[in-house]
Amino acid sequence: MEKTFIMVKPDGVQRNIVGDVVTRFEKKGFQLVGAKLMHVSEDLAKEHYKEHKEKPFFGELVDFITSSPVFAMVWEGENAVTVARKMLGKTNPAEAEVGTIRGDYGLQVAKNVVHGSDSNESATREISLFFEESELV
Ligand code: ATP
Repeated sequence: MEKTFIMVKPDGVQRNIVGDVVTRFEKKGFQLVGAKLMHVSEDLAKEHYKEHKEKPFFGELVDFITSSPVFAMVWEGENAVTVARKMLGKTNPAEAEVGTIRGDYGLQVAKNVVHGSDSNESATREISLFFEESELV
């Protein structure tokens, strides 16, 4: 069964949105197979976002994701990657549809509440970056 990596970013954790994100994924029908509140180290942040290394906002992105705890999760279900991306909404919350997580909870692209893997390949990479095999049920 397909798995995806979902992370409530520091802004979402601080604004107490973790419970709502978990509820939305549960109600959609996905199974939670791993979850933890954690600090992202600078090394992990740079590895996770390495595709954006050359972007002007890379420094800001790394500073933000390492600034306070995130809630990292692995969800499993049919078409988990694609369906989860739909639930998250467009990257920029100002453009995300109402009813999506970013559309309902965000305003700025730099503080867009959640991350979700953009492909099966990314999901496999991100799950192994954030979780040990033994942390997944
Ligand atoms: P994520 O990888 O977090 O799920 P995404 O795949 O929808 O987001 P990407 O284009 O991969 O979006 O960008 C990664 C992250 O970089 C975004 O979630 C956002 O927080 C941040 N970001 C993107 N564009 C900008 C920008 N112009 N200024 C600041 N931060 C940005």
